[in-house]
Amino acid sequence: MSLQEKLLRLFSLDQKVRGIQGRLDSATNRLKVQQTKLSQLHQQRDELLSQLKLGQAKASSLEKEVEDIEQRIEHMRQQMQSVKSNKEYSAVLLEANTLKANKDSLETEALEQLNHVESLAQDLNQILERVAQQEKLVTGAQSEVQQCRDEVGKQLEELTAQRSEAEQDVPEEVRLTFNRTAYMHDGATMAPVIEASRRHLEYNCGGCYMTIPVERVNATMVASETQVVCCPNCSRILYIDQELKTSIGCK
Ligand SMILES: [Zn+2]
Repeated sequence: MSLQEKLLRLFSLDQKVRGIQGRLDSATNRLKVQQTKLSQLHQQRDELLSQLKLGQAKASSLEKEVEDIEQRIEHMRQQMQSVKSNKEYSAVLLEANTLKANKDSLETEALEQLNHVESLAQDLNQILERVAQQEKLVTGAQSEVQQCRDEVGKQLEELTAQRSEAEQDVPEEVRLTFNRTAYMHDGATMAPVIEASRRHLEYNCGGCYMTIPVERVNATMVASETQVVCCPNCSRILYIDQELKTSIGCK
C-alpha cells in the first residue's frame, strides 16, 4: 500500500469515527442542555422556597403581634371599668385607640404578607410543574444517549481500533501533519486535486478551491513514501484520485 493509499484509508476511518462520535456528542449535548435547564429550574425552586419560608415566618410574626395587641386592648377594657376619674379614663381610652390603630395597620400588613405568601406558593407550584416536565425531558435525553451508545458503541470501539492501526501504518511526521490538519479542519483533512484546465495546467484544491501551483501537483503525483503535499492555502493534505492520475498519465 502506498503512502497515499494508507492516508486515504486513515482518512476514511477517521471520518467514520468522527461521524459516529458526532452522533454521540450531539445526543450528549442535547442531554447537557436539558440538564442545565433543569438545574436552573431547581435554583428557581430553591429560591422561591426560601422566599416562601421567610414570607410565612413574617406573616405569622405579624399575626402574633396582632394577637398581642388584642390582648392588651382587652386588658385595657377591663382597666376602664375600674377607673376612678375622667382624666384617667381619657388616658386609657387614648392608649386603647392608639393600640387599635396599630392593630389595624398590622392587620393590613399581615394580610398583604399572606397575599404575598399565596402568590409565592402559586409561583412555586408552577415551577414544580415545570421541574416535573423538565425531569421527563432529561430522562428522555438520557435514554437517547444510552440508546445511541448501545447502537454505535461497539462499532465506534472497533472503528477507533482500526483507525489507530491505520495511523500506526503512517510515518510519524506524516501522522502529526494528518492529525494537526484533521484538528484544524474538523476532519476534512484531505482534499483531491481538481483539474480546472489541462491546457493551461490549472489545478485547484478540492477543499478550498484555490489554485494549486503545478509543481505541487507534480509533487503529489510522485508517490513519496515519507512526505505529503499540502494545499498552500488551506493546508489540507492533497491527493490525486485514480481517475485524474490515469488521465494525466495518459495525456
Ligand atoms: Zn486548499
